[in-house]
Amino acid sequence: MKILVINCGSSSLKYQVFDMAKEDVLAKGLVEKIGLPGSFLKHRRGEESNHLVETPIKDHEVAITLVIEALTSGEHGVVKDMSEIEAVGHRVVHAGEKYATSVLITPEVMQALRECIALAPLHNPPNIMGIEVCSRLMPAVKHAAVFDTAFHQTMPEYAYRYALPQTYYEKYGIRRYGFHGTSHRYVTERAAVLLGKSADELKLITCHLGNGASVAAISGGKSMDTSMGFTPLEGLIMGTRSGDLDPAIIPFIMEKEQMSPEQVNNFLNKSCGMNALSEVSSDFRVIEDAAAQGDHKSKLALEMYYYRVRKYVGAYAAALGGVDAIVFTAGLGENSPEVRDEVCKHLGFMGVEIDPAKNRVRGKEVDLSTASAKVRVLLIPTNEELVIARDTKFIVGSV
Ligand code: ADP
Repeated sequence: MKILVINCGSSSLKYQVFDMAKEDVLAKGLVEKIGLPGSFLKHRRGEESNHLVETPIKDHEVAITLVIEALTSGEHGVVKDMSEIEAVGHRVVHAGEKYATSVLITPEVMQALRECIALAPLHNPPNIMGIEVCSRLMPAVKHAAVFDTAFHQTMPEYAYRYALPQTYYEKYGIRRYGFHGTSHRYVTERAAVLLGKSADELKLITCHLGNGASVAAISGGKSMDTSMGFTPLEGLIMGTRSGDLDPAIIPFIMEKEQMSPEQVNNFLNKSCGMNALSEVSSDFRVIEDAAAQGDHKSKLALEMYYYRVRKYVGAYAAALGGVDAIVFTAGLGENSPEVRDEVCKHLGFMGVEIDPAKNRVRGKEVDLSTASAKVRVLLIPTNEELVIARDTKFIVGSV
């Protein structure tokens, strides 16, 4: 069974084709700058080198048409025609409280996703558009939706409610939803395998540290709490997002800087975080280099970042009443020994101890702990696309 996985953003689109027999990736690629100057498609079949198509891509319809052309091309393709693709799995950011698992896309599901636009105005519209265009261009194929929020629907009410009047929850849906659920779920399942236990008997703290970043508290394979909230702005300091701050700062800035609600929302999402603190970049590679050269602002930004992650790990250890393993994943979690070291080195009091030699590793599944550590520290590369492909296979197999 061949499955196409689509992750459609406002100006970009990522895709992968899986052969589910062995879960091999047959091809993958991305389209960038949709509707902008300099748009292109980068496509790769298997381990071959990238095939680049630089052409005006005015909208998502053109982008998906180009993806279909690449996948069916004699030279770079992996199928003769799209009828060989049995199903398409779509990443969708927000399903509100409606879905706690992945679902087959039906008109009713599309309506529910449209109702969630208010909760994710930046993410759900391009996700919806991707599904609409794919359904038009591949009408004979089944489509499934896999949600970032679904895994966190198990959070207890005391963790997901904010201390606002109940009517705000009922009228506007203001509550913690949490994001990166597909990634937290994947590393939870892998952690159980690595530890040789069932997820049911484990307490885990999973740290997804990428451009966007979140920590989750997992007990018995279920999400009990997570640092992102009503939107992906809450929690850790991120590349360009502020993460947690005193809510009173927001009206204060709006008044001082004459910002509208939309402007302040943009500001907190796009002009803060590591980029604003370091004044060099939102990319940790650049910030780590600048700090190594003695740049004070970059050093402070990193200290603040590590401190915030550590605080969440400590809070979640308390929330779970103990922890068996801490998991690091995503761009930074997988590739930066410094971040793992700096987060873990003050957690010796709770039985965390990583082996510096084992920690000198990137992008591989490894137990980084010393033999005597009470809490394991695992590096597990995430694979959200594989989860989407597996869920899609399961859903189309059961209809
Ligand atoms: P996204 O949230 O966009 O999927 P990723 O999970 O790919 O992001 O993470 C991207 C971030 O990971 C980069 O901005 C960078 O800060 C960090 N990163 C990637 N590789 C390294 C590395 N070798 N060293 C330090 N940080 C890295």
